[in-house]
Amino acid sequence: MKTVDIIVPCYNEEAVLRIFVETTNGFIDKIEGYKFRYILVDDGSRDKTFSVMRSLAEEYRNVKYISFSRNFGKEAAMYAGLKNSSADYVIVMDADLQHPPEMIADMIKGVEEGYDCCAARRTSRKGESKIRSLFSRNFYKFSNKITDVKMPYGAVDFRIMSRQMVNAVLSLCEVQRFSKGIFSWVGFETKWLPYENVERTIGKTKWSFWGLFKYAIDGITAFSVAPLRFISLLGLIISGLAFIYALIVLFQTLIFGIDVPGYATTLIITLFLGGIIEFSVGILGEYIGRIYMETKKRPIYLTKSTNLDDDKDDEYGFNTFEE
Ligand code: UDP
Ligand code: MG
Repeated sequence: MKTVDIIVPCYNEEAVLRIFVETTNGFIDKIEGYKFRYILVDDGSRDKTFSVMRSLAEEYRNVKYISFSRNFGKEAAMYAGLKNSSADYVIVMDADLQHPPEMIADMIKGVEEGYDCCAARRTSRKGESKIRSLFSRNFYKFSNKITDVKMPYGAVDFRIMSRQMVNAVLSLCEVQRFSKGIFSWVGFETKWLPYENVERTIGKTKWSFWGLFKYAIDGITAFSVAPLRFISLLGLIISGLAFIYALIVLFQTLIFGIDVPGYATTLIITLFLGGIIEFSVGILGEYIGRIYMETKKRPIYLTKSTNLDDDKDDEYGFNTFEE
């Protein structure tokens, strides 16, 4: 029997975690020929998520958990899960039931067809704020244009991956991880499964508008140096324009003599250039900040407690705890 690890990053999901595991069990129990194990990652939750995890682990033999020493973010939680997985196939999914567990069977069919990865893609963004989907759509367009990685619009983190692909993802050892980009960067064949957006009914989203904005910047800087090229090009264009203007001023002076007024032009040019320089330094700063954080080589996450080390043998199984 092939084994499947289901990795679930959880941050303040006390209200939904048990429902998630029980609902998912209902679907995986029907899939024959596979043994499943959960790796629930408690990303430093401040509510009772961890105690829910522990009681689930007591009830179900195939529920494993890792609890972080603090909140490290979803990316770190996914990484921890992948790092500790050992199954033939690995599924990554959210705890909030926005990733329909009924798709697991189709995803497994996808990898059985020979794909290395089978991932979900939202076809609608029903229930999401207009402004969020507007920004999101434009982010994908922009990012696909300027980076080497192609992310289909609506791609979510919900996916199954082969062992080979998981190992490839883990071989990218950057500390600041942008999984959507990493999944695409490693290559391999991905089959996309469309699905209708599911609204979160229990608990609430951890994303703020500012959080998403930072996430977008991370995604672009992690996979592209196009902004750096853009500022070089901008510098070149401005130098060209300045040269032409210098010639004009020179001829004007030679022909019409010295024309003292010019307060407005001087002021506008100074302010304009000041703005451009600040902007360029800002872009440089984004990259330097990232280099700085990478060079520290800090661990991606720190574990406070886990039951992954206890009884290694036969921890895969179905949802029912057998004596
Ligand atoms: N999550 C996490 N750490 C965080 C934020 C979120 O592990 O710092 C988890 C969260 O518990 C959920 C998944 O990541 O299982 C997706 O989060 P959320 O539902 O808030 O995002 P959205 O679906 O709104 O994009
Ligand atoms: Mg969600």
